[in-house]
Amino acid sequence: MKRILAAVGCVCVLLMSGCGDSPRSRQTVALDTSCAVTIYDGEDALLDECMAHLRAREALWSKTVATSDIATLNKSGTAVVDDDTAALLIAAKSFSETTDGAFDITTASLVTLWDNAEKEGVIPDKEAIAAALACVGGDNMIVDGNAVTLLDGAEVDLGGIAKGAIADELAAMLKDGGCESALIDLGGNIVALGDKHGEPFHIGIADPQNSDKLALTIAVSDKAVVTSGSYERGYDIDGTHYSHIIDPQTGYPVKNDLLSVTIVCPSATTADALSTACFVKGYKGAKALLSHYPEAEAVFILSDSTIETTKGIDVV
Ligand code: AMP
Ligand code: MG
Repeated sequence: MKRILAAVGCVCVLLMSGCGDSPRSRQTVALDTSCAVTIYDGEDALLDECMAHLRAREALWSKTVATSDIATLNKSGTAVVDDDTAALLIAAKSFSETTDGAFDITTASLVTLWDNAEKEGVIPDKEAIAAALACVGGDNMIVDGNAVTLLDGAEVDLGGIAKGAIADELAAMLKDGGCESALIDLGGNIVALGDKHGEPFHIGIADPQNSDKLALTIAVSDKAVVTSGSYERGYDIDGTHYSHIIDPQTGYPVKNDLLSVTIVCPSATTADALSTACFVKGYKGAKALLSHYPEAEAVFILSDSTIETTKGIDVV
């Protein structure tokens, strides 16, 4: 539950009253995070469809649901997966290539190692990190149609991309169902569908050093807003703070000049993968990476508390 509350704290959606249809919301916990969908027009039945879709995606993509595609694949090293799982694995592999491995779903074995460290309060020894690191690499996952094979003992973890992908799916479902104005928030992976009564949505980005406070508020319409940072879902061992995001090159939790990165772009899948990758790369590397994604804008909160935004960010 601590994780869930922390994740919600990273991005705050500012719901303000206005004219027209009154907003209707549904909330649930899925994929280990708090999920909320608010619609400003359209039928209430759309909200039920969204909740059902979240449950179905959890059943397919959660690594902790024993019968999911991901758990089956990790257990056996090979599996025939659903079409949508195969498509997401291919997208993830492609992000691994375009981010020079900063985003890599085969960090799963390291993620598990450091998750255990968090639970036990003891950092892993160097040999265990080296062994887990040896399983990491985008090339260790082969997707051939629906058949997926993992090499060298690799495992996969969709935690860095699934919520963005599902947020995109929910936005498409709402749009197809006739809804033109909605906010989807899957643990801080936000999609602002359309605008709100003709005005942009206001999205608050939390202060990484005090998640009860906002560092800034931005205005967006028809965009995804996704944040990665060391404060949400991070933990302390022996007085040192560790991030839940792992540097696939070192095998250690990321520690650099960034406290958080928020990506604003049309696709939540892209925003999710890029925010994780940018956080791994640090400020300079992230700027270089984003030069290849002209559709993506960013807010960086640096460890000296300064805030840098790219040109297209509309600060309120
Ligand atoms: P996010 O909050 O989107 O930045 O994703 C972080 C989650 O993705 C972690 O909780 C892990 O499940 C997983 N993860 C950690 N490090 C990486 C990485 N370098 N690349 C891809 N996924 C990662
Ligand atoms: Mg991510």
